Amino acid sequence: MINVAIDGPAGAGKSTIARAAAEKLGFIYVDTGALYRTVALYALKNNILDDKDKIVSMLNDIEVNLGFADDGAQCVYLNGEDVSPLIRTPQISMGASKVSAIPQVREFLLDLQRSIAKSNNVIMDGRDIGTVVLPDADCKIFLFASPECRARRRYKELVEKGESVTFEEILDDVSKRDYQDTHREIAPLRPTDESIMADTSELTLEQSIEFIVNIIKENM
Ligand code: C5P
Repeated sequence: MINVAIDGPAGAGKSTIARAAAEKLGFIYVDTGALYRTVALYALKNNILDDKDKIVSMLNDIEVNLGFADDGAQCVYLNGEDVSPLIRTPQISMGASKVSAIPQVREFLLDLQRSIAKSNNVIMDGRDIGTVVLPDADCKIFLFASPECRARRRYKELVEKGESVTFEEILDDVSKRDYQDTHREIAPLRPTDESIMADTSELTLEQSIEFIVNIIKENM
């Protein structure tokens, strides 16, 4: 099986680029952020997002699973319910960053991620795919762009979806999440020695996709 790890900060275009690249290559695209978002959704619903111990014991009550439609679209299930439409709000983004700093949460989601990669050609996107989840991946890419550029893209995305947010809020959110993700003790966001660094600040979406597909083809 061919395993491609794409890591990088929030809003670098990872999911859009990785999804399109997977489609071109006929691979499954796995968005691991959705798993942390799902854990955050459950914690938020139960009002325990600030209580680490309660989050850890909550893990006994939940089952998280991923499903893939024929067109490759990923759905995430929380105790059997498809929660994919509920996990894309800024509140859940922040919550996901919080729960993802808890070692037991990371451990809880590890087997699921590895088992999908074991039986499929995958492009898996996240923060620690190259460093922890798939250390033997055939190709590791670290995808990034400047914070302003990432905030601009995410702002546009959310406004198009009808969310009422300001650019400043999004930039603040991106910077806070960058800090949390790169400074946490466990599985901090960082490239590995063998990661190929891909800066998409100056690239259009199409150029970024082509760039990534070419990197993968050269490294499979
Ligand atoms: O990628 P996405 O923005 O959906 O991820 C939400 C949050 O989940 C990130 O800010 C990060 O804290 C966490 N995450 C992680 N490890 C991954 C994927 C996501 O810690 N592999």
